[in-house]
Amino acid sequence: MQLQFARRMSDIKASEIREILKVTEKEDVISFAGGLPAPELFPIKEIDEVSRGVLKESGTKALQYTTTEGYAPLRKWIADRMNTRLSTSFDEDNILITHGSQQGLDLSGKVFLDEEDIVLCESPTYLAAISAFKAYGCHFIEIPTDGDGMVMDFLEDVLKKTNGIKLIYVIPTFQNPTGKTWSLERRKRLAELSAKYSIPVVEDNPYGELRFEGESLPSVKSFDAKGNVLCTGSFSKIFCPGFRIGWIAGDKEIIRKYVLVKQGADLQCNTIAQMIIAEYLNRYDIDEHIRKIIAIYRKRRDVAIECIGKYFPDNIKYTRPEGGLFTWVELPENISSRTILDTCIEKKIAFVPGGSFFPNGGKDNSFRINFSNMPEEKIDAGLRMIGEVIREYIDG
Ligand code: PMP
Repeated sequence: MQLQFARRMSDIKASEIREILKVTEKEDVISFAGGLPAPELFPIKEIDEVSRGVLKESGTKALQYTTTEGYAPLRKWIADRMNTRLSTSFDEDNILITHGSQQGLDLSGKVFLDEEDIVLCESPTYLAAISAFKAYGCHFIEIPTDGDGMVMDFLEDVLKKTNGIKLIYVIPTFQNPTGKTWSLERRKRLAELSAKYSIPVVEDNPYGELRFEGESLPSVKSFDAKGNVLCTGSFSKIFCPGFRIGWIAGDKEIIRKYVLVKQGADLQCNTIAQMIIAEYLNRYDIDEHIRKIIAIYRKRRDVAIECIGKYFPDNIKYTRPEGGLFTWVELPENISSRTILDTCIEKKIAFVPGGSFFPNGGKDNSFRINFSNMPEEKIDAGLRMIGEVIREYIDG
């Protein structure tokens, strides 16, 4: 007899990125594929020192179970940080520590989505958010974006005409995969529409602290009069992803529901990881550390943009992100980036084809370039090679 799996499993496929990452684990591959931070920037010496201190001074506490909500000093730091940087007004009870911001997305599915419900998202959007929500049996309506973010008239039209919408998912700052940032006006308008139609928004912001230039913008949450907006955040890109510590912040009544579903998922996040991060934040200047990250990523962004301009044919489009980890390339419509990738992989170069970022499929002519994980000379060599492959393909 065959095993009977849950219905949801029939729609769950291996992530294209995870498959490509298997190729990129080989040493000599130039990879623009993952969203990996630069490992040489991890503060290993400091973490070593802080970890010893935590074990010595609070070992029994660090190795014990803790509350589902998470380690209070860390939640307090997060609330203060968000209030300063994103114009929110949170205290520690608005914050739930999660296993990376990814868990905040999964729990959002658990809290809000039934089978056949509809999620609205940017087109394109973050691949693993599609996977997280899809596991709850939802459908997606993709809302087009332009240089200022999601197109609000289109969004309102969909909100007006469609039954069953349960969630709006957005990444307004240095979006994954496009690197685009929403204007202030669009942020405000989204909060207004969320209040008008009583639809919760998940505002995902793992990259906001990595701004290379320009002014920081207030969050969608800061315009939220009804308490319908939830914010996810993460230490992955400003500290290191291996601890898997992120958070979700929002109205206390809603966060309470997230706490209940997290209890069923994993009881709590790793106690010692939370204490090590809190102690690092206490002892070291994270802003100085973030400045170091920004300086390196800014240079890598500059090299990537310059090389795309220099080596790629003129009739392609690409974004110039003001921060974050990604730029997005659009080839002429008749060219499939999967075909280009196949040839690039043979030459030991990888990127992620754009089709995966559209929950309802399509737009195969686009692809995402991550510029944070490779030194400048490899960015140059890799993009030169991708440019050659595209030209060869166009010239037939
Ligand atoms: N949201 C977005 C938009 C991301 O790009 C990522 C990871 N790259 C995440 C959430 C999850 O990150 P983490 O779980 O490491 O915080």
